[in-house]
Amino acid sequence: MGKAKMRIRVGDTVEVIAGKDRSTPQRIRRGEVISVDPAANTVTVDGMNIVHRAVRQTQQMRQGGIVETPAPMDASNVMLVCTECDERTRVGKRVAADGSKVRVCKKCGADMEQ
Ligand SMILES: [Zn+2]
Repeated sequence: MGKAKMRIRVGDTVEVIAGKDRSTPQRIRRGEVISVDPAANTVTVDGMNIVHRAVRQTQQMRQGGIVETPAPMDASNVMLVCTECDERTRVGKRVAADGSKVRVCKKCGADMEQ
Protein backbone atom coordinates (compact mmCIF):
# COMPACT_ATOMS: atom_id res chain seq x y z
CA MET A 1 0.00 0.00 0.00
CA GLY A 2 1.19 3.50 -0.76
CA LYS A 3 1.56 6.32 1.67
CA ALA A 4 -1.98 7.56 1.58
CA LYS A 5 -2.27 10.52 3.85
CA MET A 6 -4.38 9.78 6.86
CA ARG A 7 -7.54 11.79 6.83
CA ILE A 8 -8.87 10.70 10.19
CA ARG A 9 -8.24 12.97 13.14
CA VAL A 10 -8.59 12.76 16.89
CA GLY A 11 -12.14 13.68 17.84
CA ASP A 12 -13.69 12.40 14.62
CA THR A 13 -16.57 9.99 14.76
CA VAL A 14 -15.86 6.93 12.65
CA GLU A 15 -17.72 3.79 11.69
CA VAL A 16 -15.90 0.48 11.91
CA ILE A 17 -16.21 -1.35 8.59
CA ALA A 18 -13.74 -4.22 9.04
CA GLY A 19 -12.14 -6.24 11.79
CA LYS A 20 -13.71 -7.83 14.81
CA ASP A 21 -15.96 -4.84 15.60
CA ARG A 22 -17.17 -4.23 12.06
CA SER A 23 -20.64 -2.82 11.64
CA THR A 24 -23.50 -4.96 10.42
CA PRO A 25 -26.85 -3.76 9.11
CA GLN A 26 -28.29 -4.77 12.48
CA ARG A 27 -25.60 -3.15 14.54
CA ILE A 28 -23.77 -0.05 13.40
CA ARG A 29 -20.54 0.36 15.32
CA ARG A 30 -19.37 3.93 15.71
CA GLY A 31 -17.02 5.64 18.10
CA GLU A 32 -14.83 8.63 18.66
CA VAL A 33 -11.21 8.56 17.55
CA ILE A 34 -9.03 8.95 20.63
CA SER A 35 -5.63 8.69 18.97
CA VAL A 36 -4.08 8.37 15.53
CA ASP A 37 -0.67 7.10 14.46
CA PRO A 38 0.03 8.27 10.91
CA ALA A 39 3.37 6.41 10.78
CA ALA A 40 1.69 3.09 11.54
CA ASN A 41 -1.51 4.11 9.73
CA THR A 42 -3.57 3.12 12.74
CA VAL A 43 -6.36 4.71 14.71
CA THR A 44 -7.65 4.00 18.19
CA VAL A 45 -11.41 4.29 18.57
CA ASP A 46 -13.20 4.61 21.88
CA GLY A 47 -14.87 1.34 22.81
CA MET A 48 -13.61 -0.57 19.75
CA ASN A 49 -11.06 -3.36 19.34
CA ILE A 50 -11.06 -3.87 23.09
CA VAL A 51 -8.18 -5.83 24.52
CA HIS A 52 -7.54 -6.91 28.06
CA ARG A 53 -4.34 -5.66 29.53
CA ALA A 54 -2.73 -6.51 32.80
CA VAL A 55 -1.83 -3.46 34.85
CA ARG A 56 0.22 -3.25 37.96
CA GLN A 57 -0.99 -1.59 41.05
CA THR A 58 -0.19 2.14 41.05
CA GLN A 59 -1.36 5.16 42.97
CA GLN A 60 -3.99 5.88 40.31
CA MET A 61 -4.95 2.24 39.88
CA ARG A 62 -5.16 0.93 43.40
CA GLN A 63 -6.60 -2.35 42.26
CA GLY A 64 -4.23 -3.37 39.52
CA GLY A 65 -5.32 -6.42 37.57
CA ILE A 66 -6.93 -6.54 34.16
CA VAL A 67 -8.30 -3.48 32.40
CA GLU A 68 -10.21 -3.28 29.13
CA THR A 69 -8.67 -0.81 26.75
CA PRO A 70 -9.16 0.00 23.06
CA ALA A 71 -6.23 -1.09 20.91
CA PRO A 72 -5.09 0.60 17.68
CA MET A 73 -6.50 -0.79 14.45
CA ASP A 74 -5.61 -0.21 10.83
CA ALA A 75 -7.03 3.06 9.56
CA SER A 76 -8.54 1.21 6.61
CA ASN A 77 -10.90 -0.51 9.08
CA VAL A 78 -12.81 2.70 9.68
CA MET A 79 -14.63 5.33 7.66
CA LEU A 80 -15.31 8.86 8.75
CA VAL A 81 -18.90 9.70 9.63
CA CYS A 82 -20.03 13.01 8.16
CA THR A 83 -21.08 15.55 10.74
CA GLU A 84 -23.73 16.88 8.34
CA CYS A 85 -25.40 13.90 6.65
CA ASP A 86 -24.49 11.32 9.34
CA GLU A 87 -23.40 8.82 6.67
CA ARG A 88 -20.07 7.06 6.60
CA THR A 89 -18.17 8.61 3.74
CA ARG A 90 -14.94 9.01 1.87
CA VAL A 91 -13.18 12.27 2.45
CA GLY A 92 -12.45 14.81 -0.24
CA LYS A 93 -10.56 18.04 0.04
CA ARG A 94 -11.02 21.54 -1.11
CA VAL A 95 -8.90 24.62 -0.71
CA ALA A 96 -10.62 27.40 1.17
CA ALA A 97 -10.40 31.07 0.26
CA ASP A 98 -7.62 31.54 2.81
CA GLY A 99 -5.59 28.72 1.27
CA SER A 100 -6.22 26.19 4.01
CA LYS A 101 -7.34 22.69 3.10
CA VAL A 102 -10.81 21.69 4.19
CA ARG A 103 -12.09 18.12 4.39
CA VAL A 104 -15.27 17.59 2.41
CA CYS A 105 -17.87 14.82 2.60
CA LYS A 106 -18.04 13.01 -0.75
CA LYS A 107 -21.66 12.08 -0.09
CA CYS A 108 -23.26 15.44 0.70
CA GLY A 109 -20.48 17.87 -0.13
CA ALA A 110 -20.47 19.51 3.29
CA ASP A 111 -17.30 20.75 4.94
CA MET A 112 -16.25 18.54 7.82
CA GLU A 113 -13.93 20.61 9.94
CA GLN A 114 -14.43 20.21 13.66
ZN1 LIG B 1 -22.09 14.37 4.38
